[in-house]
Amino acid sequence: MIKLKYPLNYIAITSGYKTENRPNHAAIDLGWNRNYGGNDVLVYAPQDGKVTLVVDGKDNNLNSATDAGNLVKIQHKDKLTTRVIHLKKGSIKVKTGDVVQKGQILARMNNSGYSFGPHLHYDVWFDGLKVNPILYTYYYDDQVVNPETLKKYKLLKYTPDDNLKLYDKVLPIKLVNWQGKSLIQYDKVYYITKLEPKRNTAVLSALRGNKYKVWARLDINNIKKVSD
Ligand SMILES: [Zn+2]
Repeated sequence: MIKLKYPLNYIAITSGYKTENRPNHAAIDLGWNRNYGGNDVLVYAPQDGKVTLVVDGKDNNLNSATDAGNLVKIQHKDKLTTRVIHLKKGSIKVKTGDVVQKGQILARMNNSGYSFGPHLHYDVWFDGLKVNPILYTYYYDDQVVNPETLKKYKLLKYTPDDNLKLYDKVLPIKLVNWQGKSLIQYDKVYYITKLEPKRNTAVLSALRGNKYKVWARLDINNIKKVSD
């Protein structure tokens, strides 16, 4: 199962999934912080995927409870779909049919539709049914989690080690190293001989004879597992 990333870099859950007070709220609400971008902070794609719906042009504080306001819906791999809702009017950077990458800017947070204060309504669907986003979404090292949220909810933390084990066979998919320098591609299978989780990189080596020869250090997002 692919791992979704929280769509905001500052993560504060202001309303959980189907709580006692709001049993019909099949999503989480994410708040904002003055020190982390304010109430129109950037919203990012939770994973690679294809945009299947964009709604824009809706005003703030609409009265109808059925009006979600401005939104972006993305279809991901593994039957997962996400939506980010109540986006700032006119801020949406993608259109229906666009292929997006994890972390790509989608829009800005705000208060459009049936909403009474800026926040991001984030929902996750698995195989057509709404599921609890916190069971499918991970926070990364480059994100900040509100301490209260961390106390109250069991948020999943992303670690690169989850996806890659030492000596996994891999292929580089983007030919830049961790310093952003482009590299020459070789049509070879490489092996991870060292993981550097703190800087999200791995050392790749090629087998020569029965020895691993170091080839490059790559951002772990730029390598792809090869099945046996
Ligand atoms: Zn909500």
